[in-house]
Amino acid sequence: MPTIAVHGAAGRMGRRLVALVLEDDDLSLVAAIERPGHEFAGQDAGTVCGSGPCGIPIADAVPKGVDALIDFTTPAATRDALEQCVASQCAMVIGTTGLSDADHASIDQAARKIAILQAPNMSLGVNLLFALAARAATQLGDAYDIEIVEAHHRFKVDAPSGTALGIAEAICRATGKDPDKVLAYDRHGDDVPRQKGQIGMHALRLGDVVGRHTVSFATLGEEVQLTHLAGTRDVFARGALAGARWLSGKPAGRYTMADVLGLE
Ligand code: NAP
Repeated sequence: MPTIAVHGAAGRMGRRLVALVLEDDDLSLVAAIERPGHEFAGQDAGTVCGSGPCGIPIADAVPKGVDALIDFTTPAATRDALEQCVASQCAMVIGTTGLSDADHASIDQAARKIAILQAPNMSLGVNLLFALAARAATQLGDAYDIEIVEAHHRFKVDAPSGTALGIAEAICRATGKDPDKVLAYDRHGDDVPRQKGQIGMHALRLGDVVGRHTVSFATLGEEVQLTHLAGTRDVFARGALAGARWLSGKPAGRYTMADVLGLE
């Protein structure tokens, strides 16, 4: 059974990851990690996540002999974990967002020595949506207008969501379009007709919506819609766990959720 460490174990995602690994029959939690001096250092990770004691105290370094580290922290913490994982030959599942180009270059470098799965959205359904949207755009062609509408809770500060951009980028990659030229944000004004080939991007901010993404393809007389609804943050944690299971025993290399889903 693959042995798992959770990095950022006391964070919002980390707590759910610890709880779900503890419930998982195919994965074994062996370590829970936070930065040195963290307020929960030394406390039982199971208690911190609300599952009840599991006998694993929150530590501040990746121990030897772990099969995979799941990291949902900050880019600086991810950089630190990357070095530790290379040193101890531990595979990595990286969910942390906000990584810089330099971070991605470091991940590429480390992936020569260890297996790394990195994805800004670990939901299996969202990653399937990327592939379905790319396929639909290719099949339907330019006669179909494409618009992407996302909805999130009222507290979200950035727009459009990274996932909405991910859908647009998947479509652009598949159809050879340049996102900088075809993405059109939030039409407003007296003379803003749809331009042929545009991908319209729209953001709704509503109550406590966890995440909803719809990409529409429409021509005269018909419309095809693909929608993903996220009901809880657990979809990201469950995707990361599926990724950790899939990564177990894989050779060094950089992998994506499309690889996990067998889409590429
Ligand atoms: P969070 O609640 O702030 O948790 C982050 C955790 O990382 C905190 O416990 C934080 O500790 C810890 N941390 C910070 N520096 C550290 C270090 N040097 N070493 C070890 N741990 C350290 O944030 P979150 O909502 O769980 O999200 C975490 C990351 O995952 C974000 O980048 C978020 O965007 C991303 N995310 C990705 C996905 C996906 O599907 N890929 C989904 C959801 C979230 P402190 O208490 O000291 O701050």
